[in-house]
Parts: sequence; structure tokens; C-alpha cells
Amino acid sequence: MRWILFFGALIGPSICCQEKFFGDQVFRINVRNEDEIHKLIQLVNSDNFTLNFWKPPSTFGCPVDIQVPSFSLQPVKSFLKSQGLEYSVTTEDLQSLLDDEDEETQHNEGRERSGDPFNYGAYHSLEAIYLEMDSMAADFPDFVSQVKIGHSFENRPLYVLKFSTGTGERRPAIWVNAGIHSREWISQATGIWMARKIVSDYRKDPAITSILEIMDIFLLPVANPDGYVYTQTKNRFWRKTRSRNPGSKCIGVDPNRNWNSSFAGEGASDNPCSEVYHGPHANSEVEVKSVVDFIQEHGNFKCFIDLHSYSQLLMYPYGYTVDKAPDAEELDKVAGRAAKALASLLGTKYRVGPSSTILYPVSGSSIDWAYDNGIKYAFTFELRDTGRYGFLLPANQIISTAEETWLSLKIIMEHVRHHLY
Ligand SMILES: [Zn+2]
Repeated sequence: MRWILFFGALIGPSICCQEKFFGDQVFRINVRNEDEIHKLIQLVNSDNFTLNFWKPPSTFGCPVDIQVPSFSLQPVKSFLKSQGLEYSVTTEDLQSLLDDEDEETQHNEGRERSGDPFNYGAYHSLEAIYLEMDSMAADFPDFVSQVKIGHSFENRPLYVLKFSTGTGERRPAIWVNAGIHSREWISQATGIWMARKIVSDYRKDPAITSILEIMDIFLLPVANPDGYVYTQTKNRFWRKTRSRNPGSKCIGVDPNRNWNSSFAGEGASDNPCSEVYHGPHANSEVEVKSVVDFIQEHGNFKCFIDLHSYSQLLMYPYGYTVDKAPDAEELDKVAGRAAKALASLLGTKYRVGPSSTILYPVSGSSIDWAYDNGIKYAFTFELRDTGRYGFLLPANQIISTAEETWLSLKIIMEHVRHHLY
């Protein structure tokens, strides 16, 4: 059974009250047809097993990953067997991976507290990320500033780093969003790494220097701070916001189903307990609304990048329909070149295409909203890996993931720069 530690005071605040996952496993299930997908969805939606999709069934027929609590292992295995569904176990004991991750994170933060510089090859608390953002803005006041674009539901500030070498408020701009789904830690880690990369490569790397000559970059490394804190203090696998749903015991909204683009359509749920609950109305989540308001008020964004994990995909609109976006051909070409650049570093392979086709139907997503609101170059990355570790990507893969992703992001940003006018 799942249990909770209540003696946090004795063992330190970091592991107080964190939900434990002793003996929980992750199953990878090969699905071959619609009928099998249907059976799996029924299985996961059943209240008896408390299952959690890590990787839901996709349009493409990729394997499905499901987190199975220890008490459901036997019944779920029997069910899969009875239905003739093939599966393998990708994680034998989730808790041991979590323990490793926690120990490493604590050890690192201890070193940083005693004076070591911010370690980009480690996962960090929200506080540590915000401190690092502060120090970048303080160290490079000529072109880095910190902008507070609003507050989260639990009243945490939403901080954006603005990189701008020009004067004037509304230069053409690029938006980089990370961590909208809080458990996808590689995205926040890649986001903050990119901020450091921009400050260290400006005036050294001609590509980023020329991008910043005429464009501004806005980077939001933690788009869902409440969720992120929750993943570090209560439940590592929390995905949604932490807003309350009147009339339901379930908390939170999927902030990537909450944008005003075919809101409440296919690929979103109206059940507050669902991981893909779209919320009561578009922009109901203050974290989403803050970004929408900021981007609309600015009025000159040309590119919108959203970093997620995992699956190694680079996607462009649409998610809410399989109809081709008017610019699909151009977006596909850019994404193809970006994926090639990404693979050039270490051979990491990404699949490229519209979300609805290479992932699954998604309504109310950020990039569809951006695209339908005039931001043509809208892309979602699903970062590493393809399921070996899933959301628990080891910290020793952060830097290589960020480095390869940066190469592809530069291709996209350079393309945007060349097609500004
Ligand atoms: Zn995500």
C-alpha cells in the first residue's frame, strides 16, 4: 500500500510527507489496434487500480507507458494477459529511482548552500531556480532583466527572463515556455540551462548574437510553479496546476488543455479528476492567463516554444484537428532541420510532425493557441527520453539533453529571424 511519512521533523523537511511509491512499476504495453487502445483506456479510467498514464495511447501506435501501484500489479497483469496485451516492465521499483533522485538533489543543494555555484547538471528547487534567475539579471544588467508576469494560484510569482539588446518595448520576440507540466523536470532544467547559455554565448556565438540584434527572447523556466513545488514536496508525478475545483475532491487543471484554442474539444476531459481536465473555461488557470495577457499585450511575438517531456518529438500545430495548418509545409521543414541539428550532437532521434498526427489529439494546447493568434512559429518539444526513465530522467542527462535541444532551438530562432519581414 501507498503510505505517507508523517515524521518529517525528524528526517528533514525535504522528504516530509512525500507520497511513496514502494514497489510501484511502470509497464510498457504494445498496442496494435483501436480495440486494444479502448481496453487500455477503460483499464486506466477504472477506479479499482489507481493507474496513471505516463505515455497515453498515441495516434501513431507507439507503446503506452502506465504507472502501476504495487497493490494493482497482480490484477493488472491478469487483465493484460486475459486481453492478450503484451507488456514489459520498464521500471521495477519506482521508489528506488525516486530515492536516488532525491538524494542527489539534496546533496547538490547542500553544496550550493555552502557556496558552490549553481550546478546546471542537477535538478533544483523553485527557490534555487529563482535565485539563479536573479543573479543572471544582476550580473548582466545590460541585456538581461527579470519580469514578473503574474502569480500562480498559490500566489508564487511567475518570473520570466527577458533577453534584449535593444531599446524599444516591442521588438519582435520569441517565447520559450518550460515546465507547464510540473513532473517533466527535464524541461525546467533545460529552460534554466538555456538562459545561462544565452548569457554566456551572446557576443561569442554569431547565431545567437545576430538573433538578439533584432529580437528579444522571453524565457519562462517554471510555467507551473505550484505544481513544481508539489512534485518536490508531495507527489513527484503531479502534472496539473493546484487550483481547486468546486464540487470535486480532485485538484488542478491540465494547463496544456486550458488555452483558448478549440477549448474542451478532443483530447481533453471535463472530469476534474482527469490528468487532462481542461478546466471550467479557457484561461481559467491564472498561470495560463498570465502568459496569454503578457503575450497579447506585447503584441509582437513571432515564435512560441513549449518544452515538455518525454518521447523525443518535435511538434507543430495542429493538435486539435488532423487538418493541416496553413503553414504546415514550412513548419515541417524547419522542424526537420531542427531535429537533424539536434541529432548531430549525440545521435538522439526525434520524430517530427503535427501533434494530432504524431502524438494524439490535443485541444486547448499552448502552441495551437499561439498559432491561431498569429504566432506562426509554434513548436512543442517532448524532450528525452523514450521511456527508459520517463519523467525520472537522471540528472546526468540534463546537460546533454539541453545542449542538443539548444542546437535545434537555434535553427528555429534563426529561421524566424530570417523571415521576420
Ligand atoms: Zn507535458
